[in-house]
Parts: sequence; structure tokens; C-alpha cells
Amino acid sequence: MDIKKLISEMTLEEKASLCSGKDFWRTKPVERLGIPKIMVSDGPHGLRKQAEGGDHLGVNDSIEAVCFPAACASTASFDRDLIRNIGETIGEECRAENVAVILGPAMNIKRSPLCGRNFEYMSEDPYLAGEMAASYVKGVQSKGVGTSIKHFALNSQEHERMSGSSEATERTMKEIYLPAFEKAVKESAPWTVMCSYNRINGEFASENDWLLNKLLRDEWGYDGVVVSDWGAVNDRVKGLQAGLDLEMPGSGGDNDRLIAEAVKNGSLPEEVLDQAVERILSLIEKYTEYKTTENFVFDRSIDHQKSVEAAKESMVLLKNEGSLLPLSKQDGILFIGGFAEKPRFQGGGSSHINSFRITDALSEARKRADIAYEEGFPADSDKNDPKKFEAAVDAARKASVVVIFAGLPDSFESEGYDREHMRLPEVQNDLITHVADVQKNVVVVLHNGSPVEMPWIDKVNAVLEAYLGGEGVGEAEAAILFGEANPSGKLPETFPIKLSDNPSFLNFPGKKGKVYYNEGIFVGYRYYDMKDMKVLFPFGHGLSYTSFSYGKMHVDEKTMKVTVEVTNTGDREGKEVVQLYIRDLTGKELRPVKELKGFEKVSLQPGETKEVEFLLDQRSFAYYDEAAHDWIANDGEYEILAGGSSQELPLSEKIRRGSGKKTLFRVHANTTIGEIMEIPGLYEAVRDKLMPKMETLIPKAKEDQGMAASEAITEDMERAILRYMPLRGLRSFGQITNRDVEELVAIINEEAEKLGWNE
Ligand code: BGC
Repeated sequence: MDIKKLISEMTLEEKASLCSGKDFWRTKPVERLGIPKIMVSDGPHGLRKQAEGGDHLGVNDSIEAVCFPAACASTASFDRDLIRNIGETIGEECRAENVAVILGPAMNIKRSPLCGRNFEYMSEDPYLAGEMAASYVKGVQSKGVGTSIKHFALNSQEHERMSGSSEATERTMKEIYLPAFEKAVKESAPWTVMCSYNRINGEFASENDWLLNKLLRDEWGYDGVVVSDWGAVNDRVKGLQAGLDLEMPGSGGDNDRLIAEAVKNGSLPEEVLDQAVERILSLIEKYTEYKTTENFVFDRSIDHQKSVEAAKESMVLLKNEGSLLPLSKQDGILFIGGFAEKPRFQGGGSSHINSFRITDALSEARKRADIAYEEGFPADSDKNDPKKFEAAVDAARKASVVVIFAGLPDSFESEGYDREHMRLPEVQNDLITHVADVQKNVVVVLHNGSPVEMPWIDKVNAVLEAYLGGEGVGEAEAAILFGEANPSGKLPETFPIKLSDNPSFLNFPGKKGKVYYNEGIFVGYRYYDMKDMKVLFPFGHGLSYTSFSYGKMHVDEKTMKVTVEVTNTGDREGKEVVQLYIRDLTGKELRPVKELKGFEKVSLQPGETKEVEFLLDQRSFAYYDEAAHDWIANDGEYEILAGGSSQELPLSEKIRRGSGKKTLFRVHANTTIGEIMEIPGLYEAVRDKLMPKMETLIPKAKEDQGMAASEAITEDMERAILRYMPLRGLRSFGQITNRDVEELVAIINEEAEKLGWNE
């Protein structure tokens, strides 16, 4: 395709028409010039290809497809290869079904446990979300099918999602809500980026020049297509100028006309339109000209098996007191709870898959052992049927072990609205408590897309978090419960004890069209760590049927390569997720206690030791400085920590770093003496010039403190006293003139320059 030539042959109307969809899922063809239409489809944890009756809420049917674990679950695998492999499989399915772009991965940061779409999102941590999203994108795109990383950006709730404004500081956005997108863009070059519905600091994402042009394209170098979330366009012409190429699904031609008119009346430069058309044509070309000899078939049975394996890798064993799990194939096993028969394995809305083969734990477990079953409570509502409740408690009394399959009914969490609280249905909490009163061996298996409170946690022996595990959930649960598979998932988010512990609690979901991200960078474990707060289960936590120990850690300060030794000390094969965190000890900036900067999942035979390698870089140590509009890693001490959970980090090493890069430092009348002291060598260099001006100040301080002798003021005290004093303050306390202040400012700037700080 000679794209430039094609554009020159297109009429203004044809160009404008290409900037919106033909229907719900297709771009417009330009038959006269042989430009084909391409199809996009929802997902991303399976293919939701709709033949007719398109909708974005999962209402109408789509073709039968394999439902993989939702992102809440697959991210818990902490396994880049696994998620890449899911991407490859879905990519092949798309190819077989002639779908050019799958609309995912969804990767917004989990700010509150209440966000209705948390089940689709990956993590509270941007590093983890970015790594997993990039792996998914690479997988899908390796098959010649595009992705659409979504929803760009700050779309961490459903409340007022099409109108509300997410209000956040630059640092909060850069450190928490944007880096996952940045990583995916820079490392995996997604064919499309889907802008979100919401506004960001007042400006709709779909017409946000800062977000789309300046940040995404200029700063991150993105050259693909920006597509609107379905119906996210407010002002189409403004949007086009801000960098939004493709409006989906469209506006019945209205907005195409507005674009053409704007070009004609000169309010929209034609080059802006041409550039969007060029990007859309490149997208069409990428799909249609992808050369492959492979013959793609959508083999649902094979892919189903992959979804089972993925589910096994994704479940998180939260608690296993007395090693109650794995179960032996003993007599007297009782399953309770509607989710045993009807598991909840995916969420509602645009990601809803018409699943191929749903498996349930009860049927799967019955292939392995004799299992009694009592429903106790339904899977699809919070209704209490007292007869069923009592029957379950009675049966529990007589059983040797009880496994309760609990979770959130569909109506409790979905796209389109947020959860109202963090609790399981009352009937479930009651039944778990009652069963635990009469039975000493209780396992709870959870089906939920986001954390739940567990008021009964101390009464039960074991908890397996299955999240929304995809259609293979039942097979995976049976394999884990009976020990054929060893759990290896880790929590990609913190489970707080109660909702009000969550840092967004006071500001979620906002009111009157605004939600303030007032907790700033302190999201998830960054907050709980800082407050030294007890949580139900920490970020990165997850148990195994075997045990691991950590050996030596080595940090090469030159190459920034870190190696960590880990050993399987148990008697069965297992996988450990080795996590690497960095703590800033320079004390120069308000930073979280620690931040995840590396993870690797390793498989170990009993007794086996492996050395795991991590490569850190400048960014691993940096925070975002709003004054410099840049990432800065202060010189000084840092601690590297490694282990199997954010709360269990047995290995640590302190290092010193000199970034080599000096922050711009310019002194003015309001610079404090403390700031001057922070620049190595500067205070010492100017002290002699400064002190005479302070003659009245220091003795005055001495008198104030009732000190007679001059030796009473030590150098430390002098520094402490002067720290918060702006230079202009010397005018009042040091009794010097404005002119003196100006002179001082010039002298100090000169010295700072000599030290290399403000050239
Ligand atoms: C959702 C997107 C989805 C799109 C198309 C929107 O409502 O936010 O995630 O891809 O619909 O169905």
C-alpha cells in the first residue's frame, strides 16, 4: 500500500469518513480505492466477536470462544510467559476469525477495591501492570493481530465514567497511573491505544492534547492509532486535533461532516486529518498485509486446555493452617456453596465471553473422590433459603472436611457501575461462620474480581483465592485442592481488612463530576506500608504446598545487576515468585517505603537452588519531580530488598548511588538556607559570605535561648536554626538590605554553577 499516494487520491469526505467506524466493530472501507474495512472485537481474556447486534455491554451474543482467566487472575500468576502465551493463543483465534484488533488489555490501576471493573484490571502496582500488559500485547501482536491498551487514562472507577473528571497531580499520574501504559507503549508498541471516557483534570481524554499528543506521541514516541472508547467522543474536531484518530463506533456520519467542514472553513488544518488517516491506513495495512504461511484454526478444545493451565498458575493460596490442603482422597469431604456447581469465572460487560466449555469444581472433584454436596447459598444472588442453610450446617457437622465455594454474584461487580461495599453477601459470611463453629477443617474457595472482607478469617483453616479464573476454573480448582497442581499465584493487590482502610476511601468515587486522587502516589501497598498498617493479606503474598528459602543476594553497583538465590526446601516441585523492591533512603523526597522494581517466577524441584537475575536501571530508583518535569534519582543510599511477598523480604543490601545528573538549581530570594545546605559543598562554599550577614541573627538566637557563651551554638544548631530561613528573611532578622540579598543570591548562584548545579 502506498499510503501517501492513497491519501493524495482521497477526497476530503473519504478521509473524514475513515476517522470513524462503519458500524459497531468495523472501520469504513473506501471501495473506489481498494481500501478494505477491518474488524475489531472485544476481549481481552477471550474473543467476543459479535456477528450481528453489536453492543458494548455483553448483552447480545457473540461467537463461542474460550474464556481465559480475567486479568485480576492472570496477573496473579506473575508470569510474563504465561500471559504472553494467552496473548498468542487469542491472537491466533482472532486471525482465524478475521479480527484485526482485540480491544485490550485493560490495565487501569486498581485504586479502590470497589471499582466495578477491577476484575478486568491488573494491579495496584504500575510496574506489575506494565510488565504483564506488555507481555500480552507482544503475544497477540506476534500473530499479526493488533491490541488496544485501554482505558487511557485515569479510568479507575465506573461511577460517572463517561463524564467525571479524575483530578490528580502530575507526580501522581506519572508515578502511578501512567507508567504501565508507558511501559506497554515503549516495549510492545500496541497497534492501538484506546482513550478513556473520563476527563483528566477537567479535559476529556478523547480531546486531551496533553495526554494524546504531548505525552503519548511526543514524549513516549507512540506512532500507532488512538481509538476512542465506544462513545467517548465529545468534540470530534477538537479530538482530532488532540490526537484522537479513530472514533468508535461512530456518529451516523455527523462527526465526519464536522471534520470536513472544519477543514473547509480553515479551523482544522488538513495535515492533521491526513496524519490521522495515515495512521489508520497503516493499521489496516499491518493487518491485511501480514504475511504468514501458518494456517490459523480456532481449536477450542486445545485452547480450553490452555485456559485450565492458566487458571492453575493464577490461583492464590492465601492461608493454609496446619497444611489442611492439599486434600487426600478421603471419605467425608463435603462441598458447600452454589459456586461449586456454578462457578463465577468471568465478569459482566464488554469482556463477557460466550464460553466454550465451563467446568465446575464439584463435577471435577467427583472424578477424583466421593464428594457430598449442599448448596447452602446460591451463586447468583444474596438470597438466604433457611432450609438450605440449615442442611449445609447439619451436613458440615458430620463431615471430615468442608470446602465452601463462595464469591461475589454477577450483580455485585460489573462494568458500568462500582461496588457499594467490600463484603461478600451476608448469607455467605453467616454460613461460613456457622460451618466453622461445627467443623474444624474448613477450606474457603473464593470467586471474586476484587478483594472482599473476610470476617471469618481466623475461624477457617485455608483460603484459596480463585479470582475469576476463566472457563477452566473447575478443573484447576480440583487439581489444586487435591494437590495435582501446586498453587503459585501471588496477590497483585493488597487485601485490606476493611474498606475504610483503603487510601482512596475518603475520595472514592467522588461527587458532582469530580474525583480527587488525594492519596496521591500512596496507592495500595505504598500506603499501607507507609502507615505501618495491618492488612488482611499483603501485596505479593501467596503460599505454596512446598517451601522456599532465600540464600545470597549480590548487587553489582556498576551494571545494576542483582542476583538472588532461592531454594525449594520442601518435598515437592513448586514455583516461587521472587520479588525485588527498592527503598529510597536518601531522605530527600517523600517516597513510598518501597516499590516493586522486578519479579521473576521460577520453577524448582525439591532441594533445587536457582539464581534469579534482575537488571535495574536509573528509572528503577527515580521519582517524578514536578519542578523539573523529569525523573530524578537523588544521590545517596538505597536499599534493595528481595523475597516472596511485599511483607517477607529476607534479603537486603544497601547501596550508594550517584546519578551523575545534577538537578537544575537556581537560587532566588525565597530559596531557604536549608535548600542551599542540601547541595553538597554549597553551604560550605558560601558560609563565610553568609555568616557576616547573619551576625545579628545568630547572637539573637543565642539570647532567645538564654545562651551567654558563643560556644553554645554548635554547627549543628546553626544549621538547624537557619534551615527554614529564606534568604530574604535576612532582611528582617539579619538586618541587611534588599541589595545585600540580591548580592548574596548572585554569589550563591555563582558558587552553585562552579559546583556544576545550574549551568
Ligand atoms: C468499554 C471498552 C470496550 C468497548 C467496546 C466500552 O464500553 O469501556 O472496554 O472495549 O466498550 O465494547
